[in-house]
Amino acid sequence: MKRLLVRAESCAGCRFCEMVCSFSHEGRFSPSLSRITVIKEDRFGFDYPIFCRLCESCPPADSCPSRALGRSPEGTLMLDEEACSGCGTCLKACPHTALKIGEASKPIFCDLCGGRPRCVERCPTGALSYEEVEEFDEKPIEALKRLMERWGIHA
Ligand code: SF4
Ligand code: SF4
Repeated sequence: MKRLLVRAESCAGCRFCEMVCSFSHEGRFSPSLSRITVIKEDRFGFDYPIFCRLCESCPPADSCPSRALGRSPEGTLMLDEEACSGCGTCLKACPHTALKIGEASKPIFCDLCGGRPRCVERCPTGALSYEEVEEFDEKPIEALKRLMERWGIHA
């Protein structure tokens, strides 16, 4: 399956990805409407974009009391807007905190831009890619530990 991947060592924390994502989906530059969110650990200058990882088993979909979340053939989440009550249960269930509530009080999440990820195209440092891989399960804390070791930081 093709997935978004992060090279944490390359992310500059510029948040272009958030801007291009919100603009391409909502017509506005607003991080709160972006399907990708750059988290920051300023003590170490560490930045890491988080988004839907297309997990094989999807806790948000499983937890939805209205059964409003399904999967597309590409593996992305799909929302049945009619069925969704906006309760927010899915947000709490996601282990990657990849879902947000959008302006219509319904969940928003990465849809891979229909197979042409705009964030990948626009990332100025090449920190994001879209590749065929079995899974991408590195957690931000694991990436931070890996980089701290490489940088010789002992905290
Ligand atoms: S656009 Fe690229 S370098 Fe900038 S914050 Fe996003 S992932 Fe990091
Ligand atoms: S692939 Fe598209 S929807 Fe997903 S985070 Fe990137 S810009 Fe947003």
